[in-house]
Amino acid sequence: MMLNFYPGPSKIYPEVRTYMTDAYDEGMLGTPHRGEQFVQLSRATVGLIKRKLNIPEDYYIFFTSGATECWEILIQSLTKHKSSHIYNGSFGEKWFDYAKKLRPKSEGIAFDLNEAMPVEQLEISADTELICFTQNETSNGTQVSATTILNLHNRYRDTLIAVDATSSMAGLNLKIIKADIWFASVQKCFGLPPGLGVMACSPRAIFRAKQMAERGHYNSLVSIYEKMLNYQTTHTPNTLGIYLLRRVLEDRPFIKGIDQELIDRSTALYEFFAQFQDIQLLVENEEVRSRTVIALQASERLVDDIKKRALHHNIRIGNGYGAWQRNTFRIANFPAILDEEYEELKRFFLHYYA
Ligand SMILES: *Cc1c(COP(=O)(O)O)cnc(C)c1O
Repeated sequence: MMLNFYPGPSKIYPEVRTYMTDAYDEGMLGTPHRGEQFVQLSRATVGLIKRKLNIPEDYYIFFTSGATECWEILIQSLTKHKSSHIYNGSFGEKWFDYAKKLRPKSEGIAFDLNEAMPVEQLEISADTELICFTQNETSNGTQVSATTILNLHNRYRDTLIAVDATSSMAGLNLKIIKADIWFASVQKCFGLPPGLGVMACSPRAIFRAKQMAERGHYNSLVSIYEKMLNYQTTHTPNTLGIYLLRRVLEDRPFIKGIDQELIDRSTALYEFFAQFQDIQLLVENEEVRSRTVIALQASERLVDDIKKRALHHNIRIGNGYGAWQRNTFRIANFPAILDEEYEELKRFFLHYYA
């Protein structure tokens, strides 16, 4: 068996094997998406997402194909002229790149890997329609803290804020109320196979979408919203993915408990990796270190050696990403991965690299 520490697609809950057979046996896979069986599944899943992930009752939940689709939906359906993107890594920057293709006036504000998002210094245009940032930057293992998000919310109360939480949603207890839109793909902290995204929108975000009434796309936000009033989707959805999501959420504890376990485990992992002479923590500022993606830096040669040797021992370690592709590697700290798997990982590092 391969131990999988890749930060997405990542380790799948082993129970998914049984859930898939159940989906088949229950006739879920060929069920029409306008029929009662699908509507019941969709309604139950939405309820579980809210309950288990601590999402306010008045937020709306939508199913998409993943985070990338959410990037596009939000730009096309909530902006006419420009969005503002605050980023320090590849995923935040990619979202900005897509935004510029649709709305050339969109603006980007980059900040440093080791600094907190500089909320007080931000000079966001007064006419921006959407502020976008990545809560957990999977590419470099940084995160935006709850306090920073609160400050951003307080400073820009009248502007919609959208958060890419792809590698933290279902792992951390996010303060959903402090932003209007949150979204994630399920192949990270949800421990599920790829091909499904979850998006949560505040009543204010939906109000704006209705006002803008952008209906030019199959995935226009108003259309998605209208269909979801009846727990349906605009087009044939990933029914298996939704079914697996329901089953996983049913069996999982509430997010508060998962959050605490991940925080404790990330602290232990950072302490562990700090002891190696030839390996550095990529993020020096503790305040902005991610709790769910650990980024480690070493010489290109050593990184190469670690990844190859690990694979030889059936351990999959995450490659570096974007600007950090060759001199870093990443370790996911996701809920589906067991403590004993991290113990094995630690034994591997102690044995070869101490
Ligand atoms: C993985 C990831 C994405 C892309 O997810 P897809 O499922 O490929 O659309 C976007 N943003 C972040 C922060 C990610 O970690």
